Amino acid sequence: MDAPSTRRSVVESPRPSFSEPEAAEIAERVFGLAGRVTPLSSERDQAFLVGDGARGGGVLKISNAAERAAVIDMEAAAVLHVLSVDPEIPLARPIARRRPGSGLEAYRDEVAGPDGVHLVRMSERLLGRAAVAGSSLDAGALRAFGAVVARLGRAMRGFRHEQADRELLWDLQHVLRLRPWVEEIEPPDRRALVSRALDRFERRALPRWAELRSQVIHGDVTLENALLDERSRIGGIVDFGDMSHTALVVDLSSALESLLRGRDAAGALRAARSFIDGYEGVTPLEPLELELVADLTTARTAMTLVITTHQVAADPSRADYIDASAEGYWHLLEVLDGVDPGEAAAALGAEVPSEAKRLGARRGTVLGSALTAPTYDPPLYLVRGEGTFLFDEGGRAYLDAYNNVPVLGHSHPRVTGAIARQSRRLATNMRYLHHAVVELAERLVETMPPDTGLDTVLFVNSGSEANDLAWRIARAWTGRTGGIVTEHAYHGISDAIAALSPEEWRAGAPSHVETIAPPDPRRIASDAWAAQVDGAAAALAERSAAPAVVMIDAAFTSDGVFRPDPGTMRVLVERSHAAGALYVADEVQVGHGRSGEALWSFVADGIAPDLVTLGKPMGNGFPIAAVVTRAELVDRFATTTEFFSTFGGSPPAAAAALGVLAVIEDEGLVARAEEVGGFLEAEIVGIGSPTIEQVRRRGLTIGVELAGPAPGELVARVLNRMRDRGVLIGSTGPRGEVLKIRPPLSITLEEAAMIAPALAGSLAD
Ligand code: PMP
Repeated sequence: MDAPSTRRSVVESPRPSFSEPEAAEIAERVFGLAGRVTPLSSERDQAFLVGDGARGGGVLKISNAAERAAVIDMEAAAVLHVLSVDPEIPLARPIARRRPGSGLEAYRDEVAGPDGVHLVRMSERLLGRAAVAGSSLDAGALRAFGAVVARLGRAMRGFRHEQADRELLWDLQHVLRLRPWVEEIEPPDRRALVSRALDRFERRALPRWAELRSQVIHGDVTLENALLDERSRIGGIVDFGDMSHTALVVDLSSALESLLRGRDAAGALRAARSFIDGYEGVTPLEPLELELVADLTTARTAMTLVITTHQVAADPSRADYIDASAEGYWHLLEVLDGVDPGEAAAALGAEVPSEAKRLGARRGTVLGSALTAPTYDPPLYLVRGEGTFLFDEGGRAYLDAYNNVPVLGHSHPRVTGAIARQSRRLATNMRYLHHAVVELAERLVETMPPDTGLDTVLFVNSGSEANDLAWRIARAWTGRTGGIVTEHAYHGISDAIAALSPEEWRAGAPSHVETIAPPDPRRIASDAWAAQVDGAAAALAERSAAPAVVMIDAAFTSDGVFRPDPGTMRVLVERSHAAGALYVADEVQVGHGRSGEALWSFVADGIAPDLVTLGKPMGNGFPIAAVVTRAELVDRFATTTEFFSTFGGSPPAAAAALGVLAVIEDEGLVARAEEVGGFLEAEIVGIGSPTIEQVRRRGLTIGVELAGPAPGELVARVLNRMRDRGVLIGSTGPRGEVLKIRPPLSITLEEAAMIAPALAGSLAD
């Protein structure tokens, strides 16, 4: 057998056999502690309670003769280290011997016995019940247990010791070395059960072991080594004898091995989840750790059974300590063996995708017919995004040339990190003071040109809500009820804003809304365009619905993407004010740098809106939106209502939005938008296809209008062909005749260079 040799001697050499009077004599002579002596159970050493415990007392440990001083010293060093980092972790402080000694040596001494020389030490006595049945712990106790294990691991992070690298038999990373001992297990079905657990470890955990975070860990935080108080909360952790430098998640497997015993499969998974909840409240687990924790708990249970079976075979006197609990371990191993490893991982929080086809059917059944249809046929099932790429379940990468919400690229670590950290720390609402939301509002106001007077920010959760709020503020200010928008605009889903979104009209125009054509010089001359507002306002006034707002998306994205000539937006705002309406710059799409000219397109257009609405990319995927306006408008609004949005401006949302603003600046994304946008436009024009009617662009929003009798159908086909080629784009325009290319602003020139060839090929198809 080739199990690690250093520990084999400890595991296989006999337990010390000092009598109680001998132990009492040692306690008094060596450590100066007198009192009644009570033996405690121990696997390979001897332990005694000294004193009555009510007023102090201690625990005397007489080590196996094979134990080495360096290992004992490491245990004392670890306890002292943990207590210095996190003094609230209930550990037994080592007690110094009477004889002077330097450093850690002062915490041990030697005594002679029939088997040789034994190291002895004394530690404070901790109060509590040991070896409580794991199945008696409820969810609260399991969570608390998980939190203590995590704190212990956290406190040991910075602990180093040369002995921690010794090869320890009980270190799960060496579990496969136990295979020769598996042969000793009877009957054969139990032997097969243990072999399956080791095979599972070899197949699922071993190949990825090097990816797991590692440090020195306690290694045996079981209920045997935990003292619980009357509420089943940990009042003490003892026995650092199985410490080693190994994967952090190994601590979870030892704890779970003891907490899950005596439960059925469903109960065990639920209990494990509660324990992990507690652990993650202190130290979030990495995806791989979550994926493997069930496999490691299974391997740990098998390991316990292999080692203890071997120990009993080698030294039948140990059977009293070992056999009593063996059936509980066997039952647990059967339970763990009965759950599919993937399902166990999913139950413990690992991400396990389902299958695309079934998902499509389930979506159709439960989400109803009003929901927008999936863009591609067959629909895409995406499981991951990184930068400009999205990945499907099979791992295929798609260049995302469509989504503007992940303005920084998918899953930007600055934002995901900010959201996760803030969610862990605090997620409340605007009824309390919080620095992030105030800082965000100040940052946003700083980005507004001072002469606009845009000095006040209101936070909501979606572009629709921002526009709805802007609409209400404008109505309160003007006392009017009408609105003017472009012919095929989209501004949102609320009742009021759906009325201002002709793209969504199914039953004609509401009587309080008038539309104007987008700035398409093929339809209306540039210098006549803004004057459309006059006619629209007059028509509304005739219907007793004079305009409260003119609401414009300055990339005209839903209208098919148009770029107004310089100066025309200024005239539009003048005409709006002349008509008595407020001007709402809907920057939900074109804002946050997409115009390629400025953070906000209205700044590039040289106008001063009365209200600015922000959304979509504002949290790079986390819901947050805002209205920025002048204090006087909000003051008037405040006379009509109070404003509060449960999630609006929550600390995680504010943290996300602050991250977005910072990264746009740090990565120079406004300039990038213009650079890549210009490059893409030239590339697409360069295709020279007769099927392309016109290429239009505002910053990094590009509309490619297709020609022909049924351009909408052509667009739908091109989208699917592009998807087949690994490039995702969308469509827009009143007849769906325009290809919409609107990638994250983080897209590089190399990535953007993939788009035109894919488009050329798709058009040729
Ligand atoms: N305004 C514009 C210009 C938009 O493009 C959208 C969303 N497409 C909205 C408002 C509405 O935003 P949300 O979907 O977040 O409600």
